[in-house]
Amino acid sequence: MMRMTVLASGSKGNSTVISSSRTRVLVDAGLSCRELMKRMMIAGEDPAALDAILITHEHQDHVAGLGVLARKLGIPVYLTEPTHRAWVRMITPRRTMSYAEWLDRVQQEKAERAQTAALEAAGAVLGICDSMSAAVESATCSSEDDTEDPDEVETRQQERAKPDPAFLPSVEYFHSGRQFSIGDIEIMPFTIPHDAADPCGFVFAAEGARMAVATDLGYMPPNVKAALKRIDVLLLESNHDLEMLKDGPYPWSVKQRVLSRVGHLSNLATAEFLEQDYDGTASFIVLGHLSESNNAPELARLAAEQALAGHPTLLGNRILLAEQSAPLEPICL
Ligand SMILES: [Zn+2]
Ligand SMILES: [Zn+2]
Repeated sequence: MMRMTVLASGSKGNSTVISSSRTRVLVDAGLSCRELMKRMMIAGEDPAALDAILITHEHQDHVAGLGVLARKLGIPVYLTEPTHRAWVRMITPRRTMSYAEWLDRVQQEKAERAQTAALEAAGAVLGICDSMSAAVESATCSSEDDTEDPDEVETRQQERAKPDPAFLPSVEYFHSGRQFSIGDIEIMPFTIPHDAADPCGFVFAAEGARMAVATDLGYMPPNVKAALKRIDVLLLESNHDLEMLKDGPYPWSVKQRVLSRVGHLSNLATAEFLEQDYDGTASFIVLGHLSESNNAPELARLAAEQALAGHPTLLGNRILLAEQSAPLEPICL
């Protein structure tokens, strides 16, 4: 048996549980850890039974609770290397400094280096063991970040008591287009056009069933159309109504971003895919990532239903609407 439980979907947070009878993974962690745990309990999913967290991309609505949840459950996080780097950069506080401050710092470091060299020359090696053990300790948390500056290392050592927000108990890298497995679930990640470091969607296969997650796409490129064949449960973006977006409250720059080739799928684009390219195999199509400002659930549903109505053989497809504020009933196959 395979199961999909959409815990949340929309620009304020995305997360979905995909399970086989033996394996359970969380796709994205876009709400706080507390809220994710609460929703899993409401939906009848045991958080302690999760085997891994998979991340589609580093936008806040997909990673808001990632670090805290992964540390709390002590489970591995699967993501691509560019997504991991982008996430680490995003949550690692960086201080900006003026040119004068930078010059001051360079002078200070030069003086410190000269002092250390003088001490070493005098045979004083005190403190070296301490600094080596600190380096080993910090490497376990931040070995992926080789761009950090000495100032930050110093600050981190001073603040060692505080947990590193970028620390994950275990990180596993995958590559879009290359299949991998977690337990008995086979996972095929595919590249999606979206303004993130290395965004992807997923097809999950286990026990003869196939489920897919495809949200956050600017348009439907051929590789995504190809990936979404022979799917039994399809979570598909239907982000905005074009008219509502154009007349809506977003600033023009944001409207342009949403509409762009690396933004989000409109109801119309989703309907076009369903009408022209979809093979009709899904028992359930879950419309997701609906904009609260620029869409109405009944508009998204209507567009999809009209697209499917052109194909009498597809009327067996059930359309569900994922919600932002509450989990959906688990969809079992
Ligand atoms: Zn996104
Ligand atoms: Zn998103």
